[in-house]
Amino acid sequence: MTTIAFVGVGNMGGPMARNLLKAGESVCAFDLSDKVLKPVIDAGATTAPSVREAVGGADVVISMLPAGAHVRAIYLGDGVLAAAKKGALLIDCSTIDIDSARAVHDAAANAGLDFLDAPVSGGVGGAEAATLAFMCGGTDAAFRRAKPILEKMGKRVVHAGVAGAGQAAKICNNMLLAISMIGTCEAFVLGEKLGLKSQTLFEIMSAASGQCWSLTTYCPVPGPVPTAPSNRDYTGGFATALMLKDLKLSQGAASNVGVSTPLGAEAAQLYALFTAKGHGGVDFSGIVKMLRGEL
Ligand code: NAD
Repeated sequence: MTTIAFVGVGNMGGPMARNLLKAGESVCAFDLSDKVLKPVIDAGATTAPSVREAVGGADVVISMLPAGAHVRAIYLGDGVLAAAKKGALLIDCSTIDIDSARAVHDAAANAGLDFLDAPVSGGVGGAEAATLAFMCGGTDAAFRRAKPILEKMGKRVVHAGVAGAGQAAKICNNMLLAISMIGTCEAFVLGEKLGLKSQTLFEIMSAASGQCWSLTTYCPVPGPVPTAPSNRDYTGGFATALMLKDLKLSQGAASNVGVSTPLGAEAAQLYALFTAKGHGGVDFSGIVKMLRGEL
């Protein structure tokens, strides 16, 4: 049994920590919110009064936090890197900016500790079902150590490359996802105005060159894909606010390396507008309503 400290047990971290418990690991959970700690403790985790105390006895530390500032705050200075025991493996699964991930990688290397950036895709449903996909950045040695642990929370664990490569892969993927979703929405809105039934257009596009995940798994109009959030009034999926966060990260990264991503920029603007209209909590496929002129 591995002793794992899990820092940040919110929407994603909570079910991930519970899956580690189900797999027979010993988990010490830490979060600033007692409310999110409770279900993890009820599932068998212990807790500690501080991050330092939570990670002090752990073989593995996993964090799942909102953004780069939180990750820097818990790892650097007097935090996880100072308190972790010798030989501990550190894995950050949060989606954060590449610079913050690299800063923690550098500090961990200086402290002689293995660190991996390992953001996920698959959402809360994937976290609950232990079917997440992990995109990992770090050394071969860190990846080899982390893989069997991550496999207890997901079904696909990929070594994307060196420090920060996991974050890079995640934001490239989500930029493409946002663009393809907006394109899919536009195709349905145009089809509706041209008199096509959504079901008919779906059947044609899903078997033609317009086929993509946004169409066949997450179809933004209700009907063709019964499990898609569009059938639940765009609830219970991937919140627009989180997509906007990822698009800001991809735009920031593109600017840092001098790459032009005009469609990524447009997608960021459209999701910012949708959020500003008060729809940050709606699934990101809900933008079809704004493109249809309903909002
Ligand atoms: P969340 O807000 O539900 O959970 C984050 C948790 O971190 C909260 O419980 C908060 O109290 C805790 N926290 C903040 N600062 C802390 C600190 N200093 N010490 C201890 N705990 C602290 O967010 P989430 O939806 O679980 O997302 C977590 C990460 O996963 C984010 O980076 C997000 O972008 C990424 N992500 C989320 C989804 C999703 O669908 N929710 C999908 C993929 C990736």
